[in-house]
Amino acid sequence: MPDLQMSDEVRQLLGPEGAARAAEVSLADGQCVHCHRPLDGTVHLVVRTHGNFLHAVYVHAACGPSEIVELPADEAPPVPADGYDMAMTAAVLDHGGADLPVLVAETVSKAYLVNGGPAAELTSAVAAALLGQGFSLISRLRAAPPPVAEWVGVLLLGHGPAGEDGLLVLDPDGGQFYAGAVELPDGWLQHVGRYGWAVLYVGDVGLPELRGEGKAFARALRAAAQAGRLVGARIAVGTPPPTAAA
Ligand SMILES: [Zn+2]
Repeated sequence: MPDLQMSDEVRQLLGPEGAARAAEVSLADGQCVHCHRPLDGTVHLVVRTHGNFLHAVYVHAACGPSEIVELPADEAPPVPADGYDMAMTAAVLDHGGADLPVLVAETVSKAYLVNGGPAAELTSAVAAALLGQGFSLISRLRAAPPPVAEWVGVLLLGHGPAGEDGLLVLDPDGGQFYAGAVELPDGWLQHVGRYGWAVLYVGDVGLPELRGEGKAFARALRAAAQAGRLVGARIAVGTPPPTAAA
């Protein structure tokens, strides 16, 4: 596991809550923003900031210090599509007695909107943007959340980056919310075939460390929901016709 370090100026800027949350993140799927290689060893936290926007990113200790970087005034904060490294986990999860196909996306680096002073609340910038696009705040996993129109998941079976199964999640503007590999558990495709949709959850869950552990996975998701750190929506999911995969 990478060992995360932050400088005093970064710790001060984040405040106690932000520093604790930055230290909680899993860096298992993270990339160094300087050299773009996987994170390992000692990792430094860098905060990019612009107005009330904070984006926590990571660099190898050898690639740079833990510091605050002011974004140029004309540089907009990244939007959910195209802006973030994401980990994606597929699972079949019980919702009030129905087994539903779910996708859980988690940004590796965290971006927050800060309201008010240094002790202020941090709101996930990604969750805030998705709520503005019709996603619902999830407090319990009892029923599938309402659908969002024009969001779509496209499965590329056997056509991921390294020949594994791949997944594209596109927003209504065609922005790539996610493009990468996904591991599909038994029964997931059948459930998607039956419903024509999957539930897409997005939040700070700590999933990369829970891979393959069903009960721990469901627990982590419920905990994130109870903590108000999960948003979700039903999205249409299609698979390409067999001929298109040739
Ligand atoms: Zn690096």
